[in-house]
Amino acid sequence: MSDAMARPAVTTLSEDELAFRDAVREFAEGEIKPLVVKMDEEAQMDSALIPKLFEMGLMGIESPEQYGGAGGTFFMACLAIEQLGRVDGSVSVLVDVQNTLVTNAFIRWGTDAIKQKYMPKLAREWIGAYALSESTSGSDAFALKLRAEDKGDKWVLNGSKLWITNGNEASVFLVFANMNPAAGYKGITAFIVEKGYKGFTVGKKEDKVGIRASSTCELLFENCEVPKENILGEVGKGYKIAIETLNEGRIGIGAQMIGIAQGAYDAARDYVKGREQFGKPIAQFQGIQFQLAEMRTQLEAARLMVYNAARLKDAGEDFIEQAAMAKLFSSRTAEKICSMAIDLFGGNGFTREYPVEKFWRDAKIGQIYEGTSNMQLQTIAKMELS
Ligand SMILES: Cc1cc2nc3c(=O)[nH]c(=O)nc-3n(C[C@H](O)[C@H](O)[C@H](O)COP(=O)(O)OP(=O)(O)OC[C@H]3O[C@@H](n4cnc5c(N)ncnc54)[C@H](O)[C@@H]3O)c2cc1C
Repeated sequence: MSDAMARPAVTTLSEDELAFRDAVREFAEGEIKPLVVKMDEEAQMDSALIPKLFEMGLMGIESPEQYGGAGGTFFMACLAIEQLGRVDGSVSVLVDVQNTLVTNAFIRWGTDAIKQKYMPKLAREWIGAYALSESTSGSDAFALKLRAEDKGDKWVLNGSKLWITNGNEASVFLVFANMNPAAGYKGITAFIVEKGYKGFTVGKKEDKVGIRASSTCELLFENCEVPKENILGEVGKGYKIAIETLNEGRIGIGAQMIGIAQGAYDAARDYVKGREQFGKPIAQFQGIQFQLAEMRTQLEAARLMVYNAARLKDAGEDFIEQAAMAKLFSSRTAEKICSMAIDLFGGNGFTREYPVEKFWRDAKIGQIYEGTSNMQLQTIAKMELS
């Protein structure tokens, strides 16, 4: 089967999941596709699109209905991220961060009061961002330097963050800072910072190769005042929140990657049917058919790995190794499939008039964020040898 609308061969989807997937696909085709080129060229998310993502229920997929969410599963969040990625990697990661990192963390570690205050906003109107990385701490995330101090009636944060997705659009930021550097990673605490807090500013936006419409920003904290109640989980336990959310978030990035790969594959399959050389469509040459078959097989393998990891997570089973493998494999596969799609387009594939070069640019980030490929290999190796 070459069409993502078809029922996957092995990982069965329920009728509800199929209907949800197809609704997101239709939304992506109708509402996002016409904006993709402009958003990429201008490196800017279309502001009119964001309320539509909320209306579609895509910003609180797992959020319980009592908080205004859709009460869905992690697997459903992955289906949405995949279908959005098939049309645009930037919208896909916006929805991914909102669901698999930010909302996920609030669901798991928020007190009742925190949930009451923030989750309805996150489901209906507020975009969230997840701020762990800094200029000197990427792979070595727990070496972060953002300092938090207890000032009695409030926390005060000083330092900066780098590479924060949704930085320009977000109203609330989940920020990891160290309360007690002498304690190392055991000083790390997760703070909830609203955009308007005193001493907080969003800094420069990166000019990127891919996912250009997704804002990636620096965050600056200069005596930033955070209310005492605005911590997620316990003081000194932020490292646990960071590890556990990223373990899950990786599956979402896998979903983004298989979506991007599907978009590139679909475009290439359609193109080879129409492009003629030597007096016939190039799709009639076995060499081309074998390339398509190779791409489709790689994509199927990556999709099954991502779906399997998401299903394991929803079932409450161990999934960390499968998540790392799914992200590693799907991001490499996406880059490869997008590159092969450019090959099938010939010279046209190398121009901005055709969609495949953008898929290729957008795929590259999958091997970098939420843990580079080496970090995934490290996780897998650690689990194999433990
Ligand atoms: C577009 C974009 C969006 C992002 N969004 C967010 C976000 O929303 N929130 C957030 O907190 N962060 C975000 N990040 C940051 C991202 O997670 C980091 O860039 C990533 O973790 C890598 O860190 P680094 O860039 O510092 O690279 P480095 O850690 O400096 O790595 C450089 C190279 O060294 C390798 N390496 C490092 N250590 C080892 C080791 N021990 N063994 C083997 N190889 C090693 C890496 O694999 C990599 O190849 C984003 C980044 C980008 C580019």
